[in-house]
Amino acid sequence: MTQILTGTPVVGGVALGPALWPGHRPDHSAEALGAGVEIAEEQRADEAQRFTAAAAAVAARLRERASQNTGVAAEVLTATAGLAEDRGWIGAASGLIAKGASAPSAAVAATEQFAAVFTKLGGLMAERVTDLNDVRDRVLAELLGLPEPGVPTPDVPSVLLADDLAPADTAGLDPATTIALVTRLGGPTSHTAIIARQLGIPCVVAVPDLTGIGSGTVILVDGTTGEIVVEPDDATARARVDEHTRQAALVAGWSGPGRTADGTEVAILANVADGSSARAATDHPVEGVGLFRTELAFLERADEPSVEEQAAIYREVLDAFGGRKVVIRTLDAGSDKPLRFVDQPEEANPALGVRGDRIALAHPEIRAHQLDAIARAAEGSETSPWVMAPMIASPAEAAAFAAQVRERGLTAGVMIEVPAAAILASAILAEVDFVSIGTNDLTQYTMAADRMSADLASLTDPWQPAVLHLIATVARAGRDQRKPVGVCGEAAADPILACVLVGLGVTSLSSAPVAAAAVGARLAGVTRATCENAAAAALATADPAAARAAAAAVLENEEVRSAASR
Ligand code: PEP
Ligand code: MG
Repeated sequence: MTQILTGTPVVGGVALGPALWPGHRPDHSAEALGAGVEIAEEQRADEAQRFTAAAAAVAARLRERASQNTGVAAEVLTATAGLAEDRGWIGAASGLIAKGASAPSAAVAATEQFAAVFTKLGGLMAERVTDLNDVRDRVLAELLGLPEPGVPTPDVPSVLLADDLAPADTAGLDPATTIALVTRLGGPTSHTAIIARQLGIPCVVAVPDLTGIGSGTVILVDGTTGEIVVEPDDATARARVDEHTRQAALVAGWSGPGRTADGTEVAILANVADGSSARAATDHPVEGVGLFRTELAFLERADEPSVEEQAAIYREVLDAFGGRKVVIRTLDAGSDKPLRFVDQPEEANPALGVRGDRIALAHPEIRAHQLDAIARAAEGSETSPWVMAPMIASPAEAAAFAAQVRERGLTAGVMIEVPAAAILASAILAEVDFVSIGTNDLTQYTMAADRMSADLASLTDPWQPAVLHLIATVARAGRDQRKPVGVCGEAAADPILACVLVGLGVTSLSSAPVAAAAVGARLAGVTRATCENAAAAALATADPAAARAAAAAVLENEEVRSAASR
């Protein structure tokens, strides 16, 4: 019987095929590992040697596989090999063996200690617990003489299901035979998601109840909606795959510029971090840069880069898009992106602390130097950059920032990431020349849900109607004052949401450049009025899944009608 499960969509696309689970992991129970057995004192040195040899063998095997791969796959395999060689972990296990533990039970106990620390640190570190557990299982299999745990090579194109996939499982997968990934755990930044993105296969994470699906059961995975249809009706499922194939062909053929079917212009822009990512972005059909996250160019710096040094980096980005639009954001330091050269105090709640433009409270000189550097980069460049500040909460902050930007002859704007700024968008827009909505933070702050938390993925979904209402408020203010309102959060990468944003009145969309063609192609197939209807349908709902379904239904209906009338 057909059953529908939903999770967090992380890589779009539709795939249909039999489910496949990875091989069994070693039994970690105390009995299986002989946890109660104490190793005799004279044998402990040999037991410790047995453990280090097993860890070294696992690391060597992972490094060998890394050398046969490239790109992210090679990086994650090398990083996992590094965990197997970690001196702290090996030291903890060896210490336990010295007290009489067997090598397998020491491997499990040392991993538990480290996993507890990683979990406590939260965010990206917590997601590395899966990698650590994977190393533990490989070392256990080596010690116990079991086959290496992991993913078998499928005989037919299959959908890989797992609790969570470790890098060593996912690296080296072949997209011809592994056509989608679905996991019970994990978040949008887990390794599963990263590898799926690299392979270009649909991926859904955080799907509860996955364990009920047996290997061989046919499932349809929709990586755009997060839907998993178990034992779908064959004809309907095939029609869905065909429709996806048709859309993919449209995407491949789209080369810009961004506009709706009836000609409303919507600039499709790229988010970049430095000169090299800006140059790489020009391989995609983008019309410029909608967000240059300058802080990412300086994460490793212990001291403030000089004005000249900053200007050179900014100039690289301007030159990559010579003559086209470039929006530079001033440093968004703090919270998830601490900068070493900004001496920020320890804060109990850094996402609500001195981050973004607020660093100018204690360090006005850092902001002044950065604006000087941007102005210097603009001298003699074909592009006059637009400059915006992150984390603006009030019209007064916007006015103070705009004054400094305009003193240097540049175009001034601010990001709308704080609900207060969205609510007072009219007053803020009166102070600046443009705004850009950062939906990642706007969603985090509207829903009071940490954007890094995998457990809160359904709350940190930009389809939350509360977030859409705030975006509508900002877009309305922009239309009234005839000033541009962009979106530069990841919401702009979702083709259906992009149509809704345009329907709400957003005038440009900026995201990871790989998303540009899919967004542009989708917009090219719908009229502005259809976008407005989709936006109205989404605003009338009360939860994110309903908002997406309502908007998608409007877009599909009207696409079908216009295709029929052609
Ligand atoms: C955002 O918050 O949506 C945004 C674009 O800024 P960042 O992701 O860099 O915080
Ligand atoms: Mg932000």
